[in-house]
Amino acid sequence: TVRVRFAPSPTGPLHIGGVRTALFNYLLAKKYGGTFILRIEDTDSTRFVPGAEEYINESLKWLGIKVDEGVLEGGPYGPYKQSERREIYKQYADMLFENGWAYYAFDTPEELNALREKAEAEGKTFAYDVTTRGSLKNSLNMSKAELEAKLSSGEPYVMRFKIPEDVEVEANDLIRGKVVFHTNILDDKVLYKSADELPTYHLANVVDDHLMKVTHVIRGEEWLPSLPLHILMYRAFGWEDTMPAFAHLPLILKPSGKGKLSKRDGDKEGFPVFPLEYTSPSGEISSGYRESGYFPEAVVNLLALLGWNPGTEQEIFSMEELAEIFSLERVNKAGARFDPAKARWFNQQYLIKKSDGELAGLFMPYLKNRGIETDLAFVEKVVALVKERVHFVAELWEQSFFFFEAPVGYDEKVVQKRWKGEVPGLIAELRGLFASEANWDAEELKHKTSALLEAKGLGFGAVANALRLAMTGGAFGPDLFTIIGMLGKDEVLRRLDNAVA
Ligand code: GLU
Repeated sequence: TVRVRFAPSPTGPLHIGGVRTALFNYLLAKKYGGTFILRIEDTDSTRFVPGAEEYINESLKWLGIKVDEGVLEGGPYGPYKQSERREIYKQYADMLFENGWAYYAFDTPEELNALREKAEAEGKTFAYDVTTRGSLKNSLNMSKAELEAKLSSGEPYVMRFKIPEDVEVEANDLIRGKVVFHTNILDDKVLYKSADELPTYHLANVVDDHLMKVTHVIRGEEWLPSLPLHILMYRAFGWEDTMPAFAHLPLILKPSGKGKLSKRDGDKEGFPVFPLEYTSPSGEISSGYRESGYFPEAVVNLLALLGWNPGTEQEIFSMEELAEIFSLERVNKAGARFDPAKARWFNQQYLIKKSDGELAGLFMPYLKNRGIETDLAFVEKVVALVKERVHFVAELWEQSFFFFEAPVGYDEKVVQKRWKGEVPGLIAELRGLFASEANWDAEELKHKTSALLEAKGLGFGAVANALRLAMTGGAFGPDLFTIIGMLGKDEVLRRLDNAVA
């Protein structure tokens, strides 16, 4: 049975890249009737951001990504927050020390910094690895008695993983295929720090994936360099038989396709990169997908197609459909370019799909906000006429305001071009015709208008634009007589009077 996890660190707002990772994990779990775990990796206390965990929970909830096991849901392998599992990890670091895969290191941060600076001055980079560990302050270079003395005196230490020399680590990434790493390029990563009695990411992550019986690790490409270390750790623990399969997702790229999508790109080009609104520590607010008027289903759909393809022309998928047809084999290796226009297009598709009743309900609060009193049935008709022209509910107003309030001004360009010569006279005549109309019916009005014009040897075009100007204030809007029919006699006469005056 499939067990996958989304394992964010609460170090800031969840970016859409993170949301996509969560989504792909979720889809794989749903596809196989498996379990989707949310594990909070908060062992780096220096990078902890208050509120980040709540932000993650709220984002997943808004998107309809349901957690099976997690901090809020509980589950048989809890706790699901690493800071609540701190007692668990030390014994595993000890285990690696016992079997020779880890060692104690006592080098102070100052000493290591000095080494880094010295190397830099020589145009090199310092690494704690097979080439340097022999001359540094660690248990590989001291007697057992010396080590014990240091430990019992309470001298601060870290425990490091001892990368074996000259080994090729091979992995079969489910997206990338065979990947080979040479251990000579790896350094001895810290696993555990006595200073805060906390494991690092690597130790906690591998131990928890093992203890939580994770079958597939699906994560961003930025974790690929950690893969050889993780594989070596599984070997060192003797857990290779149950090691999860790995899949590293391609990057989400800027609209230009050059480089990784960042918050700056969104700020610059005016599209969201976060699921929900986010206020940075310096107080600047970035609108989220939710606040920008996106439907969660549209966001799920657009994220699914960032890096995955169904192999067909189909673009619109519900969560259920995605869960059915999703597969890691169809995730691309190459980065996925984010296209803001396409994102809006997805939202439009979901907007059009909604029933007029539902859309009207969503539009009502916007109208209320503007102090407009109207009834749902009327709004439903309006929405049906203009919904194809918008991407977001909020944009319905720009396309339909004239149904709810008379124009306060008229488009100067249209006035100059269309409101001249015989036109004002014709409009006044039409007003008379409309005023005498007992049965207010769009078709009939249109018919009578044409007849009146025809009798003068004129076509409908002679007044159409002027009439539209009187109704909407400009040259826009849906079918003219549909508008006239919907506004009703009193309102149409009022607008004609205003226009003529
Ligand atoms: N805590 C890591 C992160 O923030 C998890 C990486 C992984 O999935 O192994 O992305």
